[in-house]
Amino acid sequence: MSRKKGFKHSHDTRMKISMSSKGKKMPASMKEKRRIQSIGKTLSEETKRRISESLTGRKLSREHIEKLKGEKCHRWRGGITPNNIKIRNSIEYKLWSKSVFERDKYTCVWCYKIGGSLNADHIKPFSLFPELRFAIDNGRTLCIDCHKKTETYGNKKKQFILLAKKQATMTVNNGG
Ligand SMILES: [Zn+2]
Repeated sequence: MSRKKGFKHSHDTRMKISMSSKGKKMPASMKEKRRIQSIGKTLSEETKRRISESLTGRKLSREHIEKLKGEKCHRWRGGITPNNIKIRNSIEYKLWSKSVFERDKYTCVWCYKIGGSLNADHIKPFSLFPELRFAIDNGRTLCIDCHKKTETYGNKKKQFILLAKKQATMTVNNGG
């Protein structure tokens, strides 16, 4: 590989990068910050391949999934399931959590507990950032105890969302 002359990081930047990666362990808080900064990036080819591989091993056929969707499902009640529950039950969501767990090696990113009851937490709540709901970068593995400490857990999440909804213009669906 040949690099064009004149196309390089400034010396300063390079020093900073190299110093920050030498010897020092990056504190979890900084890792977290970096991860949040990179949220919304598209999936890498590697990740796509992994998702497609895990899809290959799934039990439901594509046909079957189609049958289960919407009106074709015998449990269809006219679209009353809240969106967040629909999403949590979706194949994509399960794949997403799995990818998050795998990336984090099934380790809580806050307390480094491995295995046990782990949750894939959306750093930016998916009800507010629907475009990020399956972004691997927007996920982090948390043990249940740490998950409870997040700003968006359980009732705290409801309040968080209510507040945000007040501020945002949203389309209200009356369901006809
Ligand atoms: Zn934890």
